[in-house]
Amino acid sequence: MLHIHLTTVTLPDPSHDSDSYVWTIGGDELQSFSTKKYMGLFKTKTDPAKWTEHVWFKDATPRRAFIFWLKHLDRLPTRARLQGWGLQIEASCCLCGLFLETRDHLFLHYEVSADI
Ligand SMILES: [Zn+2]
Repeated sequence: MLHIHLTTVTLPDPSHDSDSYVWTIGGDELQSFSTKKYMGLFKTKTDPAKWTEHVWFKDATPRRAFIFWLKHLDRLPTRARLQGWGLQIEASCCLCGLFLETRDHLFLHYEVSADI
C-alpha cells in the first residue's frame, strides 16, 4: 500500500524553489524540532496532589514529612502489614489490642486519634 501511494506522489521539480521542511506538532508549525513539545504530546497533565504542598515544603522537618508521606501512601510498617509480609508477629493494635493495627486504625479509628 505504501509503495502504491508513493508512486502517486509527484516528485519535486528542481527548477522551482528549494525544498524546505516544517516541523508540525499538535497543529503548530515550529522553526525547529522541539523534543520538549514532542514529548508533551504524550504527557498527561495532572495536577500534583493537593496534600503534597502540606508535606513537602521548604522548612518541613524531613523525618516528619517522610513519615507523613509513607502514612498517606499506606506504606507504614504497621503490624498488619508486617504480618502480611510473612513476619510471625501479633497483628493486633499495639495501643488497644482490640483491632488490627492498620494505618486507618492508628490514625483514624483508634479512640485517641479520633478525638484528636
Ligand atoms: Zn487500637
